[in-house]
Amino acid sequence: MATTDPVTQQSKTAPRSDGRQADIGDLRLVGISKEFDTFTAVQPMDLVVPAGSFFALLGPSGCGKTTTLRMIAGLEQPTEGRILIGDRDITGTKPYQRNVNTVFQSYALFPHMTVRDNVAFGLRRKRDKDAMRKADEALELVQLESVGAKRPAQLSGGMQQRVALARAIVNRPDVLLLDEPLGALDLKLRRQMQIELKRIQSEVGLTFIHVTHDQEEAMTMADTIAVMNAGRIEQLGDPATLYERPASTFVANFLGQSNLLRATVVPGSATGDVVTVRSHDTDLEVSRDHLPDGVTEIFLGVRPEKLRLGESGGPNRLRGTVSDVSFTGVATQYIVSLPWGRELTVVQQNDGTARAALGENVTLSWAAEHGFALDASQDADAGADSGEELVS
Ligand code: ATP
Repeated sequence: MATTDPVTQQSKTAPRSDGRQADIGDLRLVGISKEFDTFTAVQPMDLVVPAGSFFALLGPSGCGKTTTLRMIAGLEQPTEGRILIGDRDITGTKPYQRNVNTVFQSYALFPHMTVRDNVAFGLRRKRDKDAMRKADEALELVQLESVGAKRPAQLSGGMQQRVALARAIVNRPDVLLLDEPLGALDLKLRRQMQIELKRIQSEVGLTFIHVTHDQEEAMTMADTIAVMNAGRIEQLGDPATLYERPASTFVANFLGQSNLLRATVVPGSATGDVVTVRSHDTDLEVSRDHLPDGVTEIFLGVRPEKLRLGESGGPNRLRGTVSDVSFTGVATQYIVSLPWGRELTVVQQNDGTARAALGENVTLSWAAEHGFALDASQDADAGADSGEELVS
Protein backbone atom coordinates (compact mmCIF):
# COMPACT_ATOMS: atom_id res chain seq x y z
CA MET A 1 0.00 0.00 0.00
CA ALA A 2 1.40 3.45 -0.86
CA THR A 3 0.86 6.31 1.57
CA THR A 4 1.33 10.03 0.96
CA ASP A 5 3.89 12.02 2.84
CA PRO A 6 2.10 14.90 4.61
CA VAL A 7 4.97 17.30 3.93
CA THR A 8 5.95 16.77 0.37
CA GLN A 9 2.79 15.07 -0.83
CA GLN A 10 5.12 12.52 -2.37
CA SER A 11 4.13 8.93 -2.39
CA LYS A 12 5.86 6.75 0.16
CA THR A 13 6.59 3.19 -0.72
CA ALA A 14 5.18 0.52 1.53
CA PRO A 15 7.47 -1.72 3.58
CA ARG A 16 9.28 -4.30 1.49
CA SER A 17 8.98 -7.98 2.18
CA ASP A 18 12.31 -7.91 4.02
CA GLY A 19 10.77 -5.43 6.42
CA ARG A 20 12.81 -2.42 5.28
CA GLN A 21 11.15 0.55 3.71
CA ALA A 22 12.26 1.11 0.17
CA ASP A 23 12.45 4.88 0.26
CA ILE A 24 14.15 5.52 3.60
CA GLY A 25 16.97 7.98 3.24
CA ASP A 26 19.72 9.27 5.43
CA LEU A 27 18.86 11.68 8.21
CA ARG A 28 20.52 15.01 7.52
CA LEU A 29 20.91 17.91 9.90
CA VAL A 30 21.93 20.96 7.90
CA GLY A 31 23.28 23.87 9.94
CA ILE A 32 20.85 23.28 12.79
CA SER A 33 21.29 25.20 16.00
CA LYS A 34 19.22 25.87 19.10
CA GLU A 35 19.19 28.94 21.27
CA PHE A 36 17.21 29.29 24.48
CA ASP A 37 16.99 33.06 25.06
CA THR A 38 20.65 34.08 25.06
CA PHE A 39 22.02 30.58 25.70
CA THR A 40 23.15 28.47 22.76
CA ALA A 41 22.44 24.83 23.61
CA VAL A 42 23.40 23.52 20.13
CA GLN A 43 25.92 25.36 17.95
CA PRO A 44 25.31 25.29 14.19
CA MET A 45 25.81 21.64 13.27
CA ASP A 46 25.92 19.54 10.10
CA LEU A 47 25.42 15.84 10.50
CA VAL A 48 24.51 12.91 8.27
CA VAL A 49 23.21 9.73 9.89
CA PRO A 50 23.26 6.97 7.26
CA ALA A 51 20.00 5.06 6.84
CA GLY A 52 20.02 1.80 8.73
CA SER A 53 22.92 2.70 11.01
CA PHE A 54 23.17 2.63 14.79
CA PHE A 55 24.31 6.12 15.68
CA ALA A 56 25.14 7.44 19.16
CA LEU A 57 25.18 11.01 20.42
CA LEU A 58 27.56 10.82 23.37
CA GLY A 59 28.55 13.53 25.78
CA PRO A 60 28.41 14.81 29.34
CA SER A 61 25.31 16.28 30.92
CA GLY A 62 24.31 19.58 29.35
CA CYS A 63 26.29 19.17 26.09
CA GLY A 64 23.15 19.46 23.95
CA LYS A 65 22.45 15.86 22.96
CA THR A 66 18.85 15.74 24.22
CA THR A 67 18.12 19.08 22.56
CA THR A 68 19.47 17.66 19.27
CA LEU A 69 17.28 14.57 19.69
CA ARG A 70 14.22 16.69 20.49
CA MET A 71 14.77 18.73 17.32
CA ILE A 72 14.84 15.50 15.28
CA ALA A 73 11.66 14.34 17.03
CA GLY A 74 9.95 17.68 16.33
CA LEU A 75 9.56 18.48 20.03
CA GLU A 76 11.87 21.47 19.72
CA GLN A 77 12.05 23.80 16.72
CA PRO A 78 15.64 24.62 15.59
CA THR A 79 16.64 28.28 15.76
CA GLU A 80 18.36 27.83 12.39
CA GLY A 81 18.90 25.06 9.90
CA ARG A 82 17.00 22.21 8.36
CA ILE A 83 16.29 18.55 9.09
CA LEU A 84 15.80 16.12 6.23
CA ILE A 85 15.05 12.43 5.92
CA GLY A 86 16.08 11.45 2.43
CA ASP A 87 14.77 14.28 0.26
CA ARG A 88 11.98 15.23 2.62
CA ASP A 89 12.43 18.41 4.62
CA ILE A 90 10.72 17.74 7.96
CA THR A 91 11.93 20.88 9.76
CA GLY A 92 8.55 22.55 10.17
CA THR A 93 6.44 19.44 10.64
CA LYS A 94 4.68 18.36 13.82
CA PRO A 95 6.08 15.33 15.72
CA TYR A 96 3.18 13.09 14.64
CA GLN A 97 3.75 14.03 10.99
CA ARG A 98 7.31 12.65 11.11
CA ASN A 99 7.94 8.96 10.78
CA VAL A 100 10.16 9.23 13.84
CA ASN A 101 9.54 7.40 17.14
CA THR A 102 11.20 7.82 20.51
CA VAL A 103 11.92 5.32 23.27
CA PHE A 104 12.42 6.98 26.65
CA GLN A 105 13.89 5.76 29.89
CA SER A 106 10.37 5.61 31.34
CA TYR A 107 8.59 2.94 29.35
CA ALA A 108 5.22 4.77 29.25
CA LEU A 109 3.21 1.60 28.64
CA PHE A 110 -0.54 1.48 29.20
CA PRO A 111 -0.92 -0.48 32.47
CA HIS A 112 -4.49 -1.70 31.83
CA MET A 113 -3.67 -3.19 28.39
CA THR A 114 -1.96 -6.47 27.59
CA VAL A 115 1.56 -6.37 26.20
CA ARG A 116 0.23 -7.31 22.77
CA ASP A 117 -2.39 -4.56 22.81
CA ASN A 118 0.24 -2.05 23.93
CA VAL A 119 2.38 -2.92 20.91
CA ALA A 120 -0.57 -2.90 18.50
CA PHE A 121 -2.09 0.30 19.91
CA GLY A 122 -0.75 2.83 17.39
CA LEU A 123 -1.47 0.61 14.39
CA ARG A 124 -5.02 -0.15 15.52
CA ARG A 125 -5.68 3.54 15.97
CA LYS A 126 -4.69 3.95 12.33
CA ARG A 127 -7.07 1.06 11.52
CA ASP A 128 -4.26 -1.14 10.26
CA LYS A 129 -5.90 -4.51 9.58
CA ASP A 130 -2.60 -6.28 10.17
CA ALA A 131 -2.03 -4.62 13.54
CA MET A 132 -2.07 -7.82 15.60
CA ARG A 133 0.13 -9.77 13.19
CA LYS A 134 2.65 -6.93 13.12
CA ALA A 135 2.52 -6.68 16.92
CA ASP A 136 3.28 -10.39 17.18
CA GLU A 137 6.20 -10.02 14.78
CA ALA A 138 7.59 -7.12 16.80
CA LEU A 139 7.20 -9.11 20.04
CA GLU A 140 9.00 -12.01 18.42
CA LEU A 141 11.84 -9.69 17.44
CA VAL A 142 12.31 -8.62 21.06
CA GLN A 143 11.85 -12.27 22.16
CA LEU A 144 8.70 -11.62 24.16
CA GLU A 145 6.17 -13.57 22.10
CA SER A 146 5.33 -15.73 25.10
CA VAL A 147 4.19 -12.81 27.29
CA GLY A 148 1.80 -11.07 24.87
CA ALA A 149 -1.22 -11.75 27.10
CA LYS A 150 0.38 -10.37 30.26
CA ARG A 151 0.06 -6.84 31.61
CA PRO A 152 3.19 -4.64 31.82
CA ALA A 153 3.29 -4.74 35.64
CA GLN A 154 3.76 -8.52 35.48
CA LEU A 155 7.07 -8.05 33.62
CA SER A 156 10.57 -7.09 34.78
CA GLY A 157 12.00 -3.66 33.98
CA GLY A 158 14.12 -5.06 31.16
CA MET A 159 11.12 -6.83 29.63
CA GLN A 160 9.01 -3.67 29.85
CA GLN A 161 11.74 -1.77 28.05
CA ARG A 162 11.66 -4.41 25.30
CA VAL A 163 7.88 -4.00 25.02
CA ALA A 164 8.39 -0.24 24.66
CA LEU A 165 10.93 -0.99 21.94
CA ALA A 166 8.56 -3.37 20.14
CA ARG A 167 5.88 -0.67 20.22
CA ALA A 168 8.30 1.88 18.80
CA ILE A 169 9.47 -0.27 15.90
CA VAL A 170 6.16 -1.93 14.99
CA ASN A 171 5.29 0.77 12.44
CA ARG A 172 8.81 0.77 10.96
CA PRO A 173 9.79 4.39 11.62
CA ASP A 174 12.38 6.04 9.38
CA VAL A 175 14.31 6.93 12.51
CA LEU A 176 14.08 5.55 16.04
CA LEU A 177 15.34 7.86 18.79
CA LEU A 178 16.52 6.28 22.02
CA ASP A 179 16.84 8.74 24.89
CA GLU A 180 18.98 7.06 27.60
CA PRO A 181 16.66 4.06 27.24
CA LEU A 182 18.59 1.79 29.59
CA GLY A 183 19.13 4.36 32.33
CA ALA A 184 16.62 2.77 34.72
CA LEU A 185 18.10 -0.72 34.52
CA ASP A 186 20.73 -2.18 36.82
CA LEU A 187 24.21 -2.66 35.43
CA LYS A 188 23.99 -6.36 34.55
CA LEU A 189 20.64 -6.01 32.80
CA ARG A 190 21.92 -2.91 31.07
CA ARG A 191 24.83 -4.84 29.59
CA GLN A 192 22.46 -7.59 28.39
CA MET A 193 20.09 -5.04 26.87
CA GLN A 194 22.94 -3.30 25.05
CA ILE A 195 23.69 -6.54 23.19
CA GLU A 196 19.96 -7.13 22.64
CA LEU A 197 19.40 -3.63 21.26
CA LYS A 198 22.27 -4.03 18.83
CA ARG A 199 20.91 -7.39 17.65
CA ILE A 200 17.41 -5.96 17.20
CA GLN A 201 18.73 -2.97 15.28
CA SER A 202 20.72 -5.11 12.88
CA GLU A 203 17.77 -7.47 12.37
CA VAL A 204 15.22 -4.74 11.78
CA GLY A 205 17.61 -2.52 9.80
CA LEU A 206 16.12 0.80 10.97
CA THR A 207 18.12 3.93 11.77
CA PHE A 208 18.66 4.11 15.54
CA ILE A 209 19.91 7.31 17.18
CA HIS A 210 20.89 6.69 20.74
CA VAL A 211 21.57 9.45 23.25
CA THR A 212 23.78 8.55 26.17
CA HIS A 213 26.40 9.90 28.54
CA ASP A 214 27.74 6.35 29.03
CA GLN A 215 30.77 5.91 26.78
CA GLU A 216 30.91 2.16 27.21
CA GLU A 217 27.28 1.88 26.18
CA ALA A 218 27.86 3.98 23.07
CA MET A 219 30.95 1.98 22.12
CA THR A 220 29.22 -1.37 22.62
CA MET A 221 26.31 -0.57 20.35
CA ALA A 222 26.98 2.19 17.87
CA ASP A 223 28.42 1.97 14.35
CA THR A 224 29.20 5.67 14.56
CA ILE A 225 29.52 7.95 17.57
CA ALA A 226 29.31 11.74 17.61
CA VAL A 227 31.06 12.96 20.76
CA MET A 228 29.42 16.21 21.82
CA ASN A 229 30.89 18.90 24.03
CA ALA A 230 29.35 22.27 24.84
CA GLY A 231 26.84 22.19 21.99
CA ARG A 232 29.34 21.04 19.35
CA ILE A 233 30.35 17.76 17.80
CA GLU A 234 33.90 17.33 19.00
CA GLN A 235 34.66 14.20 16.94
CA LEU A 236 32.69 11.79 14.78
CA GLY A 237 33.76 8.27 13.97
CA ASP A 238 33.51 4.57 14.62
CA PRO A 239 34.16 3.52 18.23
CA ALA A 240 37.62 2.02 17.58
CA THR A 241 38.90 5.10 15.75
CA LEU A 242 37.61 7.45 18.43
CA TYR A 243 39.26 5.33 21.09
CA GLU A 244 42.57 4.68 19.34
CA ARG A 245 42.94 8.07 17.69
CA PRO A 246 41.13 10.73 19.71
CA ALA A 247 41.41 14.14 18.04
CA SER A 248 41.24 16.22 21.21
CA THR A 249 42.00 15.99 24.91
CA PHE A 250 38.25 16.08 25.55
CA VAL A 251 37.66 12.90 23.53
CA ALA A 252 40.83 11.25 24.92
CA ASN A 253 39.66 11.79 28.50
CA PHE A 254 35.91 11.34 28.04
CA LEU A 255 36.15 8.10 26.07
CA GLY A 256 37.98 5.72 28.39
CA GLN A 257 41.11 6.66 30.30
CA SER A 258 44.18 8.29 28.81
CA ASN A 259 47.70 8.88 30.04
CA LEU A 260 48.88 12.20 28.60
CA LEU A 261 52.54 13.19 28.74
CA ARG A 262 53.70 16.66 27.80
CA ALA A 263 56.38 16.37 25.10
CA THR A 264 58.20 18.33 22.40
CA VAL A 265 58.76 17.09 18.89
CA VAL A 266 62.51 16.69 18.23
CA PRO A 267 63.22 18.70 15.02
CA GLY A 268 64.34 16.58 12.06
CA SER A 269 63.78 13.33 13.97
CA ALA A 270 61.34 11.76 11.55
CA THR A 271 62.66 8.40 10.35
CA GLY A 272 60.53 5.93 8.48
CA ASP A 273 57.11 5.86 10.07
CA VAL A 274 58.05 7.40 13.40
CA VAL A 275 58.90 10.76 14.93
CA THR A 276 60.88 11.24 18.14
CA VAL A 277 59.41 13.40 20.88
CA ARG A 278 61.11 14.34 24.15
CA SER A 279 59.39 14.24 27.51
CA HIS A 280 61.39 15.06 30.65
CA ASP A 281 64.70 14.23 28.88
CA THR A 282 63.42 10.88 27.65
CA ASP A 283 63.15 10.25 23.92
CA LEU A 284 59.95 8.51 22.89
CA GLU A 285 58.63 7.49 19.51
CA VAL A 286 55.22 8.06 18.03
CA SER A 287 53.88 7.08 14.62
CA ARG A 288 54.35 9.93 12.17
CA ASP A 289 50.74 9.84 10.99
CA HIS A 290 49.53 10.15 14.60
CA LEU A 291 51.08 13.61 14.88
CA PRO A 292 48.91 16.61 13.96
CA ASP A 293 50.41 18.74 11.17
CA GLY A 294 52.65 21.64 12.17
CA VAL A 295 52.48 20.99 15.91
CA THR A 296 55.67 20.93 18.02
CA GLU A 297 54.33 20.96 21.60
CA ILE A 298 52.22 17.89 22.19
CA PHE A 299 50.47 15.71 24.70
CA LEU A 300 51.61 12.17 23.96
CA GLY A 301 48.72 9.90 24.84
CA VAL A 302 48.82 6.17 25.69
CA ARG A 303 45.85 4.12 26.84
CA PRO A 304 46.38 2.19 30.12
CA GLU A 305 46.07 -1.25 28.51
CA LYS A 306 48.71 -0.38 25.88
CA LEU A 307 51.36 0.11 28.56
CA ARG A 308 53.27 -3.04 29.53
CA LEU A 309 54.97 -3.65 32.84
CA GLY A 310 58.43 -4.72 31.63
CA GLU A 311 60.17 -4.22 28.34
CA SER A 312 58.04 -6.35 26.03
CA GLY A 313 55.63 -3.61 24.99
CA GLY A 314 57.88 -1.80 22.51
CA PRO A 315 60.77 0.64 22.21
CA ASN A 316 59.29 3.40 24.37
CA ARG A 317 60.51 3.02 27.96
CA LEU A 318 59.83 4.89 31.19
CA ARG A 319 60.90 3.90 34.69
CA GLY A 320 58.72 4.38 37.70
CA THR A 321 57.51 3.02 41.02
CA VAL A 322 54.24 1.18 41.60
CA SER A 323 52.22 3.40 43.95
CA ASP A 324 48.89 1.59 43.81
CA VAL A 325 47.62 -1.87 42.82
CA SER A 326 43.95 -2.74 42.42
CA PHE A 327 42.78 -6.18 41.42
CA THR A 328 39.54 -5.99 39.45
CA GLY A 329 39.08 -9.64 38.42
CA VAL A 330 39.83 -9.78 34.70
CA ALA A 331 42.59 -7.23 35.05
CA THR A 332 44.83 -5.47 37.54
CA GLN A 333 45.14 -1.71 37.50
CA TYR A 334 48.44 -0.17 38.58
CA ILE A 335 49.35 3.41 39.26
CA VAL A 336 53.00 3.97 38.42
CA SER A 337 54.69 7.17 39.64
CA LEU A 338 57.36 8.60 37.34
CA PRO A 339 60.46 10.33 38.79
CA TRP A 340 58.98 13.79 38.19
CA GLY A 341 55.79 12.92 40.08
CA ARG A 342 53.49 12.19 37.17
CA GLU A 343 51.31 9.13 37.68
CA LEU A 344 50.42 6.76 34.86
CA THR A 345 47.62 4.22 34.90
CA VAL A 346 48.47 0.75 33.62
CA VAL A 347 45.91 -2.01 33.10
CA GLN A 348 47.26 -5.53 32.75
CA GLN A 349 45.06 -8.52 31.94
CA ASN A 350 45.16 -11.27 34.55
CA ASP A 351 46.40 -13.77 32.02
CA GLY A 352 48.97 -15.46 34.20
CA THR A 353 51.84 -13.04 33.59
CA ALA A 354 53.74 -11.96 36.68
CA ARG A 355 52.22 -9.13 38.66
CA ALA A 356 54.07 -6.20 40.18
CA ALA A 357 53.95 -5.36 43.89
CA LEU A 358 53.34 -2.07 45.62
CA GLY A 359 56.57 -0.09 45.88
CA GLU A 360 58.33 -2.10 43.14
CA ASN A 361 60.48 -0.26 40.60
CA VAL A 362 59.22 -1.10 37.14
CA THR A 363 59.81 -0.29 33.49
CA LEU A 364 56.82 0.67 31.38
CA SER A 365 57.02 0.10 27.64
CA TRP A 366 54.82 0.63 24.62
CA ALA A 367 54.94 0.66 20.83
CA ALA A 368 55.12 3.84 18.74
CA GLU A 369 51.85 2.97 17.00
CA HIS A 370 50.03 2.70 20.32
CA GLY A 371 50.57 6.35 21.14
CA PHE A 372 48.62 9.32 19.87
CA ALA A 373 49.66 12.95 19.84
CA LEU A 374 47.46 15.96 20.55
CA ASP A 375 48.14 19.67 20.24
CA ALA A 376 49.31 20.84 23.69
CA SER A 377 47.56 24.19 23.35
CA GLN A 378 44.36 22.47 24.55
CA ASP A 379 43.18 22.05 28.12
CA ALA A 380 44.76 18.75 29.20
CA ASP A 381 41.95 18.01 31.64
CA ALA A 382 39.04 18.59 29.23
CA GLY A 383 36.51 15.77 29.42
CA ALA A 384 37.99 14.28 32.60
CA ASP A 385 35.59 13.91 35.49
CA SER A 386 38.07 14.36 38.31
CA GLY A 387 39.80 17.52 39.40
CA GLU A 388 43.20 15.81 39.34
CA GLU A 389 46.02 17.11 37.25
CA LEU A 390 46.26 14.69 34.34
CA VAL A 391 49.43 15.72 32.59
CA SER A 392 52.97 16.76 33.31
P1 ATP B 1 21.56 15.58 29.91
O1 ATP B 1 22.34 14.33 29.66
O2 ATP B 1 21.76 16.12 31.30
O3 ATP B 1 20.13 15.49 29.52
P2 ATP B 1 22.12 16.95 27.44
O4 ATP B 1 23.45 16.80 26.83
O5 ATP B 1 21.04 16.12 26.89
O6 ATP B 1 22.22 16.71 28.99
P3 ATP B 1 20.43 19.17 26.90
O7 ATP B 1 19.28 18.64 27.70
O8 ATP B 1 20.34 19.12 25.44
O9 ATP B 1 21.76 18.47 27.36
O10 ATP B 1 20.71 20.67 27.35
C1 ATP B 1 21.74 21.45 26.80
C2 ATP B 1 21.75 22.79 27.50
O11 ATP B 1 20.55 23.51 27.14
C3 ATP B 1 21.74 22.67 29.02
O12 ATP B 1 22.58 23.67 29.53
C4 ATP B 1 20.30 22.93 29.39
O13 ATP B 1 20.22 23.55 30.67
C5 ATP B 1 19.86 23.89 28.29
N1 ATP B 1 18.42 23.76 28.01
C6 ATP B 1 17.79 22.64 27.58
N2 ATP B 1 16.46 22.88 27.42
C7 ATP B 1 16.24 24.16 27.76
C8 ATP B 1 15.09 25.01 27.81
N3 ATP B 1 13.90 24.58 27.45
N4 ATP B 1 15.27 26.29 28.21
C9 ATP B 1 16.49 26.76 28.57
N5 ATP B 1 17.62 26.01 28.54
C10 ATP B 1 17.51 24.73 28.16
